Amino acid sequence: MKKLEKIFTENLHRYIAAFIVIFLTISACTNQPTDQSKMEQKDNKNNPYYSRTDTTKLQVSHEEWKKILSPELFEVARNKGTERAFTGKYWDYDGLGTYYCAVCGNELFRSDAKFSSSCGWPSFFETRRPEACIYHEDHSHGMHRIEVLCGRCESHLGHIFDDGPPPTGQRYCMNSISLDFVPDEKK
Ligand code: FE
Repeated sequence: MKKLEKIFTENLHRYIAAFIVIFLTISACTNQPTDQSKMEQKDNKNNPYYSRTDTTKLQVSHEEWKKILSPELFEVARNKGTERAFTGKYWDYDGLGTYYCAVCGNELFRSDAKFSSSCGWPSFFETRRPEACIYHEDHSHGMHRIEVLCGRCESHLGHIFDDGPPPTGQRYCMNSISLDFVPDEKK
């Protein structure tokens, strides 16, 4: 018994080190979405129009958005750019939570309306509320598509296609950079 105790005591520092490594690994894995959410909230600190509760429609000039948004977000959201397929942060992300407009905080999609699409952009079959988005005809690049814009700030989000899964058959093909993901609270 004494021998066992001696072995345990001699190796105690190793057990503690192993425990710390396991604990830090688990923390890093489980906290990833929260850290990301915190980071995005910090990014939105200088955006006076960002609110996840205020649904008042915004009328903010192109010039003013340019001063507020990051160049990458401004290019997609206000200049109708498109991020490269398979490069955005959410195209293959399946965390549980809510997606908001990255420009103004408008609630757009729930994660349970997200589906795996091979297109390389985050895809949803329905919005959180009918008025969450508005739609414009888009004839750019020699195509006829339906552009999806935020219903609150009219920022460009992506396009909608009719090749989605049931129950709606629609595919909201979005740019990751135009979305803020907020994970559900841990229960
Ligand atoms: Fe918006």
